[in-house]
Amino acid sequence: MPPHTPTQPAGLLLIISGPSGVGKTTITHHVEARCDGVFSVSMTTRDKTHDDVEGRDYYFVSREQFDREVAAGALLEWAEVFGNCYGTPRKPVEEHLRNGRLVILEIDVEGAVQVKRNLPEAFAIFVLPPSEDELFRRLSNRKREDESTIKRRFAKAKAEIAQARASGVYDEFIVNDELEAAIAHATRLVKARMERGS
Ligand code: 5GP
Repeated sequence: MPPHTPTQPAGLLLIISGPSGVGKTTITHHVEARCDGVFSVSMTTRDKTHDDVEGRDYYFVSREQFDREVAAGALLEWAEVFGNCYGTPRKPVEEHLRNGRLVILEIDVEGAVQVKRNLPEAFAIFVLPPSEDELFRRLSNRKREDESTIKRRFAKAKAEIAQARASGVYDEFIVNDELEAAIAHATRLVKARMERGS
């Protein structure tokens, strides 16, 4: 693929973050479809669940392989979340950006801070729950985890919201009260940012 030229503008890097249970994965995939984006598939050391598809949701790797990727500088950013490592493979992101594409990273606050430090022109959206009670209810309804894990995720979610506000890296905070409205809101923001250029 040729590098971008003056007739083909450089792409946009979009970061979408939010606590577990807020619906950010669904929002991310709808924005990807509506804005013709490319979802960046992260590498992780966490166990694969029934719902996960290798190469679509994540690349599942051992801790040793992850450490090798970090040492080789192959990750754009990485962080440890719930005792597992997650990171963004650098090469595909850079290639898609060179080709003028919208590249979407669904990453945590720590990762977003690292990306914004290197690429301040990245556009970052944080998805909020309508309320803490509603977040707790959504986490409990997922039935993916036992009660102690749900409580841990709830505490982590509240801390992550506070961390996101304090970090100063998010351009926009959107509330996922009603899913379709939140998707439409995120899509509008991204399209406006793409039209504005970088
Ligand atoms: P889950 O295990 O539920 O899929 O993801 C747990 C958390 O890790 C989520 O907050 C998700 O956004 C974050 N995450 C997923 N991939 C990456 C990544 O490549 N880098 C960073 N920093 N966080 C990630």
